[in-house]
Amino acid sequence: MDFRLTDEQAALRESVRDFAREVVAPVIAEHYERHTFPYEVIRQMGKMGLFGLPFAEEHGGMGGDYFALCLALEELARVDSSVAITLEAAVSLGAMPIYRFGTDEQKATWLPRLLSGEALAGFGLTEPGTGSDAGGTQTRAVLDGDEWVINGAKAFITNSGTDITAMVTVTAVTGTNPDGSKELSTIIVPTGTPGFTVAPGYSKVGWTASDTHELTFDDCRVPAANLLGERGRGFAQFLRILDEGRIAIAALAVGLAQGCVDESIRYAKERYAFGRPIGDNQAIQFKIADMELKAHTARLAYYDAAARMLAGEPFKRQAAIAKLHASTIAVDNAREATQIHGGYGFMNEYPVARFWRDSKILEIGEGTSEVQRMIIARDLGL
Ligand SMILES: Cc1cc2nc3c(=O)[nH]c(=O)nc-3n(C[C@H](O)[C@H](O)[C@H](O)COP(=O)(O)OP(=O)(O)OC[C@H]3O[C@@H](n4cnc5c(N)ncnc54)[C@H](O)[C@@H]3O)c2cc1C
Repeated sequence: MDFRLTDEQAALRESVRDFAREVVAPVIAEHYERHTFPYEVIRQMGKMGLFGLPFAEEHGGMGGDYFALCLALEELARVDSSVAITLEAAVSLGAMPIYRFGTDEQKATWLPRLLSGEALAGFGLTEPGTGSDAGGTQTRAVLDGDEWVINGAKAFITNSGTDITAMVTVTAVTGTNPDGSKELSTIIVPTGTPGFTVAPGYSKVGWTASDTHELTFDDCRVPAANLLGERGRGFAQFLRILDEGRIAIAALAVGLAQGCVDESIRYAKERYAFGRPIGDNQAIQFKIADMELKAHTARLAYYDAAARMLAGEPFKRQAAIAKLHASTIAVDNAREATQIHGGYGFMNEYPVARFWRDSKILEIGEGTSEVQRMIIARDLGL
């Protein structure tokens, strides 16, 4: 049992930490304020190889693993979550389905650009009428000769409308299973396909420098060969993708929680009240000690889930625990960091205001906290 990082892992963490401080921090507040996508930051992340971290070199990846991705996400989110979620969604939701389930031809077509960060892909599961209950999927795809004809809509899809978005994978009902349930399959839809419309970006509370859109499909035709993996395997595919993604979201949440600690320590030392730094008060020290405790334990939870996944062991419950715990404590830490900053914590120019606005979605995206509890309870045989 050893949770210490290898030299290689520590070096990766250091280089992403430096990048976040030197490249992301100086520009992100303005993107956040203006709701603009940080193309230049993303381009540099691509050059660093971050989009290829957990993929084999034969596909253009860096030959690392999923834990390496998590380390990078944690360090990015320590400074900014919009950039971190762009990477998380690009890798674990965008490229990973192709990598795990795609044909050789699909891999050759899409992975080189996705793994270099030159292009982004979205993953369309959620719909305007259903999110947690994927069985409620209404989008349909009908095979007409050698083409799928897709009709329906997807909601809140990350990375689906940037200038460099190349495609989205969408889950759709393609038939009925022998037991009467919906047959779900996953289909690749390239950007610009006639009948595929990307709505203007949402007005969001947080993650405002990330890209999120509603998508509609109106008699949208793609080749039959755009089916991802086997027909009818859509459910199993997204369950696998989401199980892994939860570890990545947990890492991102730990980064935000740690960023709250960083900013709180800095502010507690420089802000004076009653003639001394506010950090001289034990009430403030205890708040920060509790925040560090929470970030540390949540980190151990995602390290554990990632270790099990990489060892090829069952990790569903541990991933749900990591995601549930890390998102809960990220919200806690953001609230306390804002409190420590007093009135300035409510001003957008302070990073903690961004952390506060960015924290809540962590309890919702890639499975709400209630869904995580359902997964844990089910895994316990309940
Ligand atoms: C910024 C952002 C980015 C996103 N990116 C993507 C993306 O890239 N791809 C994608 O597919 N989706 C994406 N999502 C969607 C996200 O995953 C869903 O919002 C989330 O899964 C919840 O689904 P929902 O919003 O439909 O809520 P619902 O499923 O309608 O749930 C509403 C509430 O009811 C609760 N609830 C539901 N069922 C139960 C139950 N059985 N027991 C107890 N409580 C229950 C939920 O926990 C929640 O609190 C994104 C969302 C946002 C906001």
